[in-house]
Parts: sequence; structure tokens; C-alpha cells
Amino acid sequence: MTRQRILTGDRPTGRMHLGHYVGTMANRARLQDTYECFFLVADLHMLTTRTELERLRLTQENIRHVVLDNLSVGIDPGRSTYVLQSLVPAISEIALILGMLTTVPRLQRVPTLKEVMQDLEIEQPSLGLLGYPVLQAADILCVRANLVPVGKDQASHLEVTREVARRFNSLYGEVLPEPDTLIGDVPNLVGIDGKAKMSKSLDNAIYLSDDAKTVEQKVRTMYTDPNRVRADIPGRVEGNPVFMYHDAFNPDTAEVDDLKERYRTGRVGDVEVKRKLAAALNRFLDPIRERRAAFERRPRIVEEILAAGSERARREADETLDRMKSAMGLRFL
Ligand code: ATP
Ligand code: MG
Repeated sequence: MTRQRILTGDRPTGRMHLGHYVGTMANRARLQDTYECFFLVADLHMLTTRTELERLRLTQENIRHVVLDNLSVGIDPGRSTYVLQSLVPAISEIALILGMLTTVPRLQRVPTLKEVMQDLEIEQPSLGLLGYPVLQAADILCVRANLVPVGKDQASHLEVTREVARRFNSLYGEVLPEPDTLIGDVPNLVGIDGKAKMSKSLDNAIYLSDDAKTVEQKVRTMYTDPNRVRADIPGRVEGNPVFMYHDAFNPDTAEVDDLKERYRTGRVGDVEVKRKLAAALNRFLDPIRERRAAFERRPRIVEEILAAGSERARREADETLDRMKSAMGLRFL
């Protein structure tokens, strides 16, 4: 029996953080034996918000980071396929065709568009930024994926994927599967500053490749209950980032319950709560760091993994494009 397929991706805009882990990477690692998995390094998507040559010069380095970060959480290149988006030209052609089946007002309604424009102070979206979800649909549909593990912020994009697949199928016949969305255990991890989302661009992230000292230092500065000026004042656990992280990353539930109880009744200082959080995070990150170091010692490993995986994806995407064109009557010769 052929396995169902997963496709997910990351833009090579920097290193990956704890938010990426709980939002999507944990599901990727968990499901790689159940599904046939494709992990896409979305360098064309990077261009939707980044076109200055000076910043594009960082792309090579960021591609390495993204692949190493995925390798370090256990996504095994022997079992899963790593793909560099720009090495699969059929994705762009599929996106072009899907763009003909998607209206501009529909794309203007995608909530992430407004958010990105606000965050990055973009006044007018480029055609490429507006078309972000269409290019993403092409990524997903080019390998005919059935499931897409993403963080909550991406759910609205997958609606566009499903709609355009449905539209294609209703016009030309059943060619494209409609994929399901799989949201992670923590759909949206807050930042260390207490802001709604941990994010590279907001500079409020703990990275998977941060060393133990950096983690301790970041946790020390973490936002907690602002009304709690002394350790003997009862504090708020709900909505408190420090406890959200304890819940997400500290498997010692007895310790976490004890800390919560004492925090609520004003019997524990922030220093102890944070010290225990930093220790738990470092215990969680240690095996990830070790795996990363082992892969980093192998020269050209990232290049080899991406070359092999992209070749495989090219075959799949060419096949999909072929089926689409046949269905549309676009194959003259
Ligand atoms: P960032 O959002 O950190 O600036 P990015 O926008 O380049 O980085 P994306 O490509 O949007 O990163 O994210 C990759 C995946 O990680 C997506 O599935 C996204 O939903 C998920 N993700 C990103 N940040 C978080 C978060 N704080 N909590 C949960 N999931 C997240
Ligand atoms: Mg994002």
C-alpha cells in the first residue's frame, strides 16, 4: 500500500526556534514513518518579503541553518525528502496555472497578508507577496500531498490550497488531492517578551541552536506576571509565558505543578521558576545540539541531501504538471 504524503516547508530567513518546533517540526519528526514526507526549503517564498541583494547574500547560510535545524530534530534524510524549492522549476509553472484560478480579492482577504505588511511596514504588496498562498499551494500540490503540518498562522493559507485544488478538479477532473491541515500541540508559541508569537523578525526567540548559556540568559529576561513585584505576592500562572514554556517543554509535571501552586500562593520567586525552566529547556535542547554537531562535522552534507531530494521532487512535480496539462488539454505535442 502506498503511504499518504506530507509536505511542509520553511523559508531560509534565519535559524529555527522553539515556536517552529512545537508548531510544526515535532509533528514532522513524529510522522515521518507513517507518511512519505517532503520538507521544502522555500527560497522563492523568501523573495516575497526580501529582495535586497545585501540580504539575499545570507541565503546560502540560511539554507544550511534550516536544513541543519531539521536534521537536528531528527528528520532523517534516509526516510524523508529534503527539497530546495528553486531546484524544482515545475513548482513555478504550477503556481502560474493555479494563479489563473484564484481571484485577487480572495488573496487580499488572507489575514497573514495584512499581518506581514504591518510587521514589515510594507505599504503596497507586490504581486509575489499577494500570491504567497498560491505558490504555497503549488509546493503542496506538486507532490500531491495529503497532509500539511503547520503552525496556526498558516491555516488560512491552506484554505487557499484546498479551494484552488477543488476548483481545478471541478473544471478539469480529479487530478489534485485536497490536503488536510495538522496544527501542532502548541498552535502559537508566545515570544520571550510575552508578545503573541515567537518570531525571528520580532527578535523574541530561543533558537534550537542557542547554547546553554544563551538560553539561561534569555530565560532570565523573560516576561512574566508584570504585577508581581515581590516573590511573596500571589502571581498569575494562566497566560504567563514562563509557565506556558514549562507546560510545553518541561516533562517533569510534578515539578511544574509544584511551581504553579507556589507561584499562585506567593511562595516562590521568579528566579527559581526561571532557573528550572532554563534547565528544562537545556535538557530538551541537548540531544538536538548533539545531533546538529554530528551533522556539521560532515562536509557538504547539506548540499548532498538537497541535491538528491530535489531530484526526486522534480520527478514528482513534473508528473503532476503533466497530469494537470493533460487534463486541461494543454498538451499539443
Ligand atoms: P518567523 O515567523 O519566526 O518570523 P517565518 O515567518 O520565516 O519565521 P514561517 O516560515 O512562517 O517562519 O514558519 C514555519 C512554520 O513554523 C510554519 O508552519 C509556522 O506556522 C510555524 N511557526 C512559526 N512560528 C511559530 C510560533 N511562534 N508558534 C507556532 N508555530 C510557529
Ligand atoms: Mg511566519
